[in-house]
Amino acid sequence: MSDIIHLLPDSVANQIAAGEVIQRPASVLKELVENSIDAGATFIQILIKDAGRTLIQIVDNGKGMSETDARMAFERHATSKIQHADDLFSLRTMGFRGEALASIAAVAQVELRTRREEDELGVLVEIAGTRVFKQETVQCDVGTSFQVKNLFFNVPARRRFLKSDNVEKSHILTEFYRIALVNSSVAFSFYDGEDEIFNLPISNNKIRIENIFGKTSKKKWQQQLLTIETSTNLVSICGYVGKPEFAQKSANQYFFVNGRYMRHPYFHKAVILAYNQMIQASESPNYFIYFEVDPQTIDINIHPTKTEIKFENEQAIWSILSAAIKEALGKFNVIPSIDFDQEGAVDMPTHISAENIRPPQTNFNPNYNPFGTSGYKRPNLDWEQLYGDFEKEKEPVHSSINWESSLDLNVTTLSPESEQQQLIENFESRAENFQYKNRYILTGIKSGLLMIDQHRAHTRILFDLFLNQIENAKSISQQILFPEILELNADDALFFEQILPDLNRLGFDFEVLGKYEYSVKAVSSHLGTASVIDLLLDILEKAKTTALDPSVGIHETIALTLAEAASLKSGQRLSSEEINDLIDRLFACQNPNFTPDAKKIMTVFSQDELEKRF
Ligand code: ADP
Ligand code: MG
Repeated sequence: MSDIIHLLPDSVANQIAAGEVIQRPASVLKELVENSIDAGATFIQILIKDAGRTLIQIVDNGKGMSETDARMAFERHATSKIQHADDLFSLRTMGFRGEALASIAAVAQVELRTRREEDELGVLVEIAGTRVFKQETVQCDVGTSFQVKNLFFNVPARRRFLKSDNVEKSHILTEFYRIALVNSSVAFSFYDGEDEIFNLPISNNKIRIENIFGKTSKKKWQQQLLTIETSTNLVSICGYVGKPEFAQKSANQYFFVNGRYMRHPYFHKAVILAYNQMIQASESPNYFIYFEVDPQTIDINIHPTKTEIKFENEQAIWSILSAAIKEALGKFNVIPSIDFDQEGAVDMPTHISAENIRPPQTNFNPNYNPFGTSGYKRPNLDWEQLYGDFEKEKEPVHSSINWESSLDLNVTTLSPESEQQQLIENFESRAENFQYKNRYILTGIKSGLLMIDQHRAHTRILFDLFLNQIENAKSISQQILFPEILELNADDALFFEQILPDLNRLGFDFEVLGKYEYSVKAVSSHLGTASVIDLLLDILEKAKTTALDPSVGIHETIALTLAEAASLKSGQRLSSEEINDLIDRLFACQNPNFTPDAKKIMTVFSQDELEKRF
């Protein structure tokens, strides 16, 4: 019997390879535009017809090709971009596989016109299904023009596999964005048939983002982007992240490394976590983040269509990225999105005078807790210490509301009793607040009617306070007269010991009674009537679960569990003084809009909406 193994003809081999590289019109666009970028083009014109089925044309003003190269370019594994395997690790070009043009030519009818600066005449190559039909010198501009016609003309199965025009176009746009967003120094024009869909001048990344996504509402994009920038010897990261209130269900999220789009689920998580508690779980922030690293420290995916990239220093970069985003978000202060009037102050009666203005916040009892009404006895506390404490606590708080303007009035030091009295009087004079169903607080603001969920608002307030206590150890304890006993199993006890320092900072105090047995001697002074043992077990349970998932902070979990337990419940009647205190404290929080677990705290019925009803 004769030998049966033979080499496949080029046309078949290329078609098989094309199956990997060229899956749909979008892949052609990607490969050709990347080639133009690699050729140093500063202006790239794109034209598609029938979602790229009948024509994809890319014209660039790059360096062009010589006559021989123009022919060579269609050979498989023909590339000018790398020579040795090692070159893969110092890659600065988009292409390197040398298979795109061979693949395209295997499954479409291709016309290439190209000329270099130094050549008088250019060259035209016509090739279809890997067969060269024409090669001749022609007059043409410097640069390269590719026309790819009738994609999959010779592979009916693949042609049938293409989706509707809209789907194919959206794939095309996806590829286009991934390139255009990281090549703002290149101008693009993009026609879909007769329609110009993009005309992007040379710009910077930020303007490029706005030009691409801000077509309908540019202003919105200008308002929403916060700059991130950081540079270490491992990595430099720059780019833009969207303000939390612009988060959306299908957000625009882009990572680039060394000028190349990449997917990176791990870094994505760093971004999402940096927004922790600022946006609802169902929404996601927009981001455009550009990494520059030494090419030696990344591993570009060898697979032609995969965009995952491996970093040598993934963990370190994770932290750097996370810090950079938190800084950007912090600088911007995450203010509530409801529009208070110009000065950012809540509606105040116009007849404000030194007599009826509410006293400065420094006179507030910082430990004041609306639990007072439910039989909770506020412990006897050192007033002085509290004021001092509160002052300090307030320092890092940012709020869009400029309380200061109404606060620089004579500060009289009041005794606790007369203070309470005066507080009530002053608040009454401001009383535009109303508790509805013992559950919501309604208050007039400039733009309409603000409705606040009291339980959620208080959860946010206490969460911020507790987290601050855990991290800065500034808490006040409340001694327990008859200590309760906490009994744990060995496993839980081990974990309990781990969170003990946090609990101590929150004002809890324990005495070790025996193996795995503790008596609770003091609790956080905010705790109110919640059952201590149940609460501790709850905290323990949640913290244990959290510990398994490094993406959630244990501190946050403890603070949230405690805040949930200690906060005002729905159905609890509040005095107007308590309502005002709650509002003030809520707006002193960095993020008064949402609870730490992303539940909406407040909503505004706009004036317009209200007036329409009459
Ligand atoms: P790769 O980009 O991986 O090198 P391609 O098959 O995409 O492989 O392209 C083959 C070669 O053709 C490139 O290495 C480059 O030298 C040349 N080439 C392709 N497109 C252009 C272009 N628009 N301008 C100049 N040269 C090009
Ligand atoms: Mg290429």
